[in-house]
Amino acid sequence: MDNESDSDDNLAISVRGLRKTYGKSVAVDGLDLDVRRGEVFSLLGPNGAGKTTTVEILEGYRSRDGGAVDVLGEDPGRPPKAWRTRIGIVLQSVNDAAELTVEEMVGHFAHYYPNPRNPGDVIDLVGLTEKRKARTRQLSGGQRRRLDVALGILGRPELLFLDEPTTGFDPEARRQFWSLIRLLNDEDTTIVLTTHYLEEAEELADRVGVVSAGKIIEVGSPARLGGRDSGKATVPWTGPNGPESEQTDSPTRVVTELSRRFDGEVPGLAVSRPTLEDVYLKMIGAAR
Ligand code: ATP
Repeated sequence: MDNESDSDDNLAISVRGLRKTYGKSVAVDGLDLDVRRGEVFSLLGPNGAGKTTTVEILEGYRSRDGGAVDVLGEDPGRPPKAWRTRIGIVLQSVNDAAELTVEEMVGHFAHYYPNPRNPGDVIDLVGLTEKRKARTRQLSGGQRRRLDVALGILGRPELLFLDEPTTGFDPEARRQFWSLIRLLNDEDTTIVLTTHYLEEAEELADRVGVVSAGKIIEVGSPARLGGRDSGKATVPWTGPNGPESEQTDSPTRVVTELSRRFDGEVPGLAVSRPTLEDVYLKMIGAAR
């Protein structure tokens, strides 16, 4: 991990040796995690790796069997009353559909917080303005998910947990959601984002943590995870006998040589580095 220099004051979340078992099955197996104040931290990992279990322990919704957990200076296993209002939560399961309209629902939940955002503003922010009079049971899956997000940000949380927030979003809604996350982050909200969309992690996260079999196996910025920035580049081009390519630590040198060899434009030339998905899949594969 690259966070050894963080002092406790800089951390929104600090976890050491977290353990959770369900019967004989170990869901979280000695997990360590630091999330800095003000960052967007994304948890990546395959189905069943222990992400939701971990996040729900951090949110105070599940008990743990071992380890030390500090979230905004408190133990979520024994939180003082005000602590909950400092945290925003968008759970993986969608809210139950109800007879209440969107605006009634958001208005209702606003009363739970000491300093809520204006409910109308929140409805606008998540793109539900046109649906504000609709009953929540009449919303589409993606629209209900937006309502979940609205309820999660209503209380101006210092720390926002988003568990697979954009599942069921169309591409435009996903981009709108990304803008919303950036806006919240600009307001200094710390965000923990669990996602299976690697482009979402790449777009939003300052750092990602890869979870496998109940442990964090690597933490880094999306650009540097798994030595992505320093890994070999692939340079493909089209030679006289068809496609060719070279794996290299110095793509600039290869391109210069090719340019000389072809005396100008090199047909089919590209330089590609491993994508976040490439390094992620490699890591997960190696951890199995
Ligand atoms: P996904 O990406 O599918 O959401 P995840 O990383 O969030 O997966 P968890 O939901 O934390 O994974 O599950 C971790 C392990 O714990 C899995 O093997 C799961 O079957 C098990 N598990 C989770 N909740 C329970 C429960 N309430 N009772 C028994 N086993 C559980």
